[in-house]
Amino acid sequence: MSFYEFSASESVEAIRTVSYQCENCGRQYSYLFHARESWSKSEQTATKHVSSNERFDIATRLKKAVHEEAIDRINDTIKGLDEHKDFGFEKCPGCGYIQSWMLRSSIAKYKIKYIRIPSIIVAVLLFVVVSLLLINGKIRQDVESYGIFLVFGLWVIIYLIIRWIGTKIAQKEPNKTFGAVNRKNTPIVTWSEPKVIEEG
Ligand SMILES: [Zn+2]
Repeated sequence: MSFYEFSASESVEAIRTVSYQCENCGRQYSYLFHARESWSKSEQTATKHVSSNERFDIATRLKKAVHEEAIDRINDTIKGLDEHKDFGFEKCPGCGYIQSWMLRSSIAKYKIKYIRIPSIIVAVLLFVVVSLLLINGKIRQDVESYGIFLVFGLWVIIYLIIRWIGTKIAQKEPNKTFGAVNRKNTPIVTWSEPKVIEEG
């Protein structure tokens, strides 16, 4: 080997604490969200003739750069998070209610069931039905050449309808046993300073 290779890595973590008052039972709770980021860097020297002092300097500089970049990265991640969508949700530990401001992240969980699966089934059915109609000559000649656009257009319309209905059902799903809860509270959100959890 004609050179030295240096590498450094670091993982950082910041913890978000969400405190809230339940909109249904009025009790006070909090839960945590962990954001993590890792960063690493390596560097090679041009030759093997590097003094131990120089090696120490390179390693120190690399470690410092990795640390700064890992911190920048986690700060960017935190800035880019969508409060309503990315921080998960929990059922109220007291009564099981999902708060109105958690709904968007809970809807994501039910979307597969109410939106994705039905829209895939409809897409396949439409394709099969239109293909059969085309094969059997039930669709007029002039429409035939637009067959693919016909299927696609119909699918988009039906998908939008499924999406709208699916979102409505998904919004109700987690809280369906609670009836009308009209109170809307706002959570209090605090982030810890990013902390190094692993380095190498
Ligand atoms: Zn509650």
